[in-house]
Order: sequence, then structure tokens, then C-alpha cells
Amino acid sequence: MEKLIMLGTGHGFVWNLYNTCFLLENGKENLLVDTGGSIDIVHRLEEKGYKLTDIHNIFISHCHTDHILGLLWILKKMSGLFSKGYSEPFNIYCNQEVTNAIKKLYSSVFSDAKVKAIDEKINIYTLNDGEKLKIAGEEITFFDVHPKGNQLYGFETVLNNGKKLIFLGDETCNPILYDRLIDADYVMHEAFCLDAEESIFKAYEKRHSTVKYVCETMQPLNIKNLILYHTEDTHKNKKELYTEEAQKYFNNNVIVPNDLDEIVLD
Ligand SMILES: [Zn+2]
Repeated sequence: MEKLIMLGTGHGFVWNLYNTCFLLENGKENLLVDTGGSIDIVHRLEEKGYKLTDIHNIFISHCHTDHILGLLWILKKMSGLFSKGYSEPFNIYCNQEVTNAIKKLYSSVFSDAKVKAIDEKINIYTLNDGEKLKIAGEEITFFDVHPKGNQLYGFETVLNNGKKLIFLGDETCNPILYDRLIDADYVMHEAFCLDAEESIFKAYEKRHSTVKYVCETMQPLNIKNLILYHTEDTHKNKKELYTEEAQKYFNNNVIVPNDLDEIVLD
């Protein structure tokens, strides 16, 4: 049975949470989705019992700092392992913009020896819109979410129990994707802040959504479970507050994870 291990649930500029990233885990293998913006990615993985040698596949949704910069720390650690003879496969899946950014980043900040090790051992795979791949035991279809900002890819997968999970990245869902979402079992959508606090956090200006807005737009699509993440971090009782608002506008199940929560996809 698959589960999501939420390593972080915050937006790009949080202090009390880690940036949104998670593992899709099936008990044997895993896919790390985004890496957050700092070395905390390594600590978060350790806190959940993972070493970097347990990670063989990473998907990076887009090239914003809060999703991509944690990868530098992973690559730094991996290059050390490679120099000691570690040779297990290590794949990074991403769109063209992310491929370009990753290569520029590590080749600018690492030594020639580290860059050579990464170039030789790590497979950076540039995805096309609609491409379907088998990764970590899951058949995953990657797709362009047609954002207003940087190139951003999401994915869709059918779990071992036949249920459909869709990840939409961190922008308000473009209505051209609604057909894809109809009747889905799990949809992962960003929710920047509560509706009453929009004037403080300015979700819409940042191409993000309030909880109310996400729930109103997702409600007619008959989604069974709506997972909300990429939030602001001022509320200790975020889960309760966000769930309460969500339930006013969305009739099915709403899941508002905290950092390090696990979501069983049953
Ligand atoms: Zn973000």
C-alpha cells in the first residue's frame, strides 16, 4: 500500500514549517517529490528514517527556490558517496527549465571533481508533457499544469489499489485541467491561507489560492480526497482551522497535513 510522507507542507518563505516536499512510498521503493529550499531536506529524510542511499528517484516540479535548492545539498552528499564507490542508480525527472537550472546550479557551485562525479553518475531526465514512465514501481504520467509563472509539471498515477492520485504543484489549478481531475480519488492542491486572511498573505497576487477558493473549485469535480499543502505558517492549529474552512465548501474528505505527517492512500 502506498503512502505520502510529507517532509514539508509550507510555502516558499516559511520559518515554522519546511517548504512543501514529500515522498510517495510503496514499502519497497519511493519517489521524492521536490526537495525544499535548504539542507533541511537531508534532516527531514533522516527524521523519517531515510538515508540518501534509500532515494533513487526525484521529481522536481519547477525551478523555484523552495522546490529546487534542497537538491544541491542532496547532490553534494551524493557526490561524496560516489567518490567512495557508491554506484546505485540515481534519477532526477523534471521539465526542461528545471534541467537547465539544475545543471547551471551545481556546475557553478561545486568543484570540478564533484561536477564530474554528478555528470557521470546521475541521470537527469527531461520530461515531455504527457509522458508516462514507470518509476519506483508506479506508472506515472507527468503533465504540464499550464501555470502563469515558470514551467510547472504535475503528475498522475494509478495506485496499486486502483485509485487515482494527482499532484498539481503549487499554483492555483488552471481550469483546463478540471477534466483530468473529475472523480479522482486523491488530488493534491496548494492552499496558501484562510479566506479571511487573504488580505494579509495575498494568495491571489502570488498565483496561489485560499482554502475556500480551492474547495469551491474542486467541489463540483467529485474528488474523493483533497490534500491541501504549501501553506503559510502562522497558525499552530493549522490543521484544525484549514479543515474547518474547507468543510464548509467541500463535501468529501479533506486532508491538511502537518510537516512529517504520513497519509495512507487506502
Ligand atoms: Zn513553492
